[in-house]
Amino acid sequence: MTEPINDLDHDSVVPERTAIFLDFDGTLVEFADHPNFVQLAPETRDAIRNAYHAVDGALAIITGRNITDIDQYFAPLRLPVAGVHGLTRRGAKGELHNATTNASVLSAIADELENQLTGEEGLLIERKSGSIALHYRLRPDLEETCVAAVDRAVAAAESIHLMRGKMVIEAKIDGCNKGNAVEDFLSEQPFSGRVPLFAGDDVTDEDAFQVVNALNGITIKVGPGDTHAQYRAKSTADFLDWLYRLANHRTEGTKP
Ligand SMILES: [Mg+2]
Repeated sequence: MTEPINDLDHDSVVPERTAIFLDFDGTLVEFADHPNFVQLAPETRDAIRNAYHAVDGALAIITGRNITDIDQYFAPLRLPVAGVHGLTRRGAKGELHNATTNASVLSAIADELENQLTGEEGLLIERKSGSIALHYRLRPDLEETCVAAVDRAVAAAESIHLMRGKMVIEAKIDGCNKGNAVEDFLSEQPFSGRVPLFAGDDVTDEDAFQVVNALNGITIKVGPGDTHAQYRAKSTADFLDWLYRLANHRTEGTKP
């Protein structure tokens, strides 16, 4: 049963005892036609920075993007980040953890996709460390073509896991997901021993919802769709509104 996010009392999120994990696209920023075009609102950046300090650094971004992408949005702040759905991870002290990936396998998949989709306008084949993403946001009419092309491209590859997101299909090296990333953070300071809170908008966030639910944490689904999360924000704007009110609630609460 998923409750509206307004039923999640700000008093139940105690900074000293909470570890915050946030997806990026669709959760902290609205989608755009190209991943590079999304805009992080200044007030969202401020709210995240304040929350990061309020929880003593126990706040991480858990994203499908590369870590360097996230850094560009939050600079000069360098947050703990799990990138490419947990394939790469930067801990609280800035140390990097990378799952071993077979770059040549991924490169062959990307080459094969480029071959198959030559001549189709509006598609984006993104080569990330640890995965290949085929975006068709500008060409939803090509969804079936894209699915078939990805199926053919990965047919011969081993240890590849396919994930469907919003207007994107991603071929990713097996064995890592956002749930594992949350577990890894929770095994380290300053995250360990805290109650996890996770917010995300997409099917790739469900692994993390299940991990956090099992730890009696707080899970928030952003937008529509089936989910394991306990709470739902109707939209990105609805979630950001809750986040801003959390930040203000804390500021007011700490005034002398
Ligand atoms: Mg997302």
